[in-house]
Amino acid sequence: MSHWRNLLALRIPQPGLLGLELEPFPFISGYGIAWRVYRLNCLESKNLFSVLGIRAPADLNLMKACHRPGASRTRFEAICGLDGTQVPAYWNAQSWSPLDLHGLWSDEDLPIRHCPECARFGYHCGLFQLPSITHCPWHEQPIRDSCPQCGAPYSVRSHLDLELGCCACGHDSFDSDIASTAMWTFPHQTAEETLTQYLAWAERERTHRHFIAPSHDRVSREGFANLARAPMAWQPAIRDPPHQRTLLEPMEGRREPSARTFWGWSLLGSDRSLTIAPLPASVHHRLAAVTRARLTAPTATLSGADDMPDQPSGGLTDRSEQYSQMERFILPHGSIGADTVWLHLSAVDPCALQMCARLAESVYQLLGEPAQGDALRSPHVQQSDALDRVNGRWRLAQALEEMLARGFAQGLDALCRVHLQQRTRIRAWRVPVIEIRGQKGHLESIRVCWIPVKPPTVESSPRPQKGGKASRKRLRRRGRKPPSPNQAPRKRQAR
Ligand SMILES: [Zn+2]
Ligand SMILES: [Zn+2]
Repeated sequence: MSHWRNLLALRIPQPGLLGLELEPFPFISGYGIAWRVYRLNCLESKNLFSVLGIRAPADLNLMKACHRPGASRTRFEAICGLDGTQVPAYWNAQSWSPLDLHGLWSDEDLPIRHCPECARFGYHCGLFQLPSITHCPWHEQPIRDSCPQCGAPYSVRSHLDLELGCCACGHDSFDSDIASTAMWTFPHQTAEETLTQYLAWAERERTHRHFIAPSHDRVSREGFANLARAPMAWQPAIRDPPHQRTLLEPMEGRREPSARTFWGWSLLGSDRSLTIAPLPASVHHRLAAVTRARLTAPTATLSGADDMPDQPSGGLTDRSEQYSQMERFILPHGSIGADTVWLHLSAVDPCALQMCARLAESVYQLLGEPAQGDALRSPHVQQSDALDRVNGRWRLAQALEEMLARGFAQGLDALCRVHLQQRTRIRAWRVPVIEIRGQKGHLESIRVCWIPVKPPTVESSPRPQKGGKASRKRLRRRGRKPPSPNQAPRKRQAR
């Protein structure tokens, strides 16, 4: 018996209600079921509770009502006869993701996406919600999140004046005849084979792949679309130009870094915004090289960044003077032995810095193994020591260094605009989205995908108002923590 029929075997049939015929629609989502019932029985919002057990507030999000665990979903499952079946386990995007999302998205956070052909049947699948799925596997139609006629986003809300699935422009993605009398024309066999094969792959992948994204919806979705692509023939090759993504591929034959390399990186991971951290000396060399490239070589390419033609600086024309000014941004604050340097990181793009901290913390939590007596030590030492026992940790050291260097190049570019009145050399600011692969004790690879974002707007005026709102805003944009209102304003670092 097929996987889908197995899942349906435990269902309690509900013959009285149109739209509950699930056999032709493998792995249909709760939203898809509710949509079919709603349209085929010509329900109105006020009938939703009596018919489907869904309480309908004025502006009901049907996706949330059917998918989010709670009383509404429990009643809905019971009315559909799905109590005790595994059908609802496939409603959310996480169950289709090849990367463990660690609770990143709730279903209602993601825009509803449809295949226009499947939508005519009222068919919707949790798979369609994944940003990495660009095409319907059996219709080969692009999966859309907006009306094909007017471009307005698809809605999951029921309005008194609009049928569910109807757009304000008049386009109706649902077809009552197709969804009822012609429902067996849905390519259920192909769909089931494709989905079962995909699921087996995604479940295998999810055991050792993890997704780490910044709290920026578009960036996290684009990063996921790049990192989680399925190696199936029905997924066309990626259409994004290659310069929009940089993948940090693993390189074999590297030596593991020495003990306590991750101590400084672990300090970044705490909830306080630390901007002075003890990092490996190699990081200082790397950041100094970024500074030199930005300042002394007019046409040099910044690490991984797009260059603009060099512009004469506003006030400072002597290069050595510029250099001494700029070196302040990465001046070391002392060293511990030959290997560790205390570095002031306030010039680093705060998003990249935060993602460095999250990467180290995530590798520790996902792949690190606690040692005996750990409970007596500080969380930073626990993290640093556990990372020292992960095989393949050189990949972590390399990724952290790459991310920090790029974040510094971006932060420095913004500071040059403000302090030296130079034109920006970085066309597209980018934010890292990360995939970690590995098992407990072993780091297999780290992939970092850089997604372009709008650069922060920094005013060119170098003279902030003392303690004023505008100066606090500017400091934040430059990645520094503004002093609290009670604190004396500190001396600016460079002019
Ligand atoms: Zn389709
Ligand atoms: Zn429309």
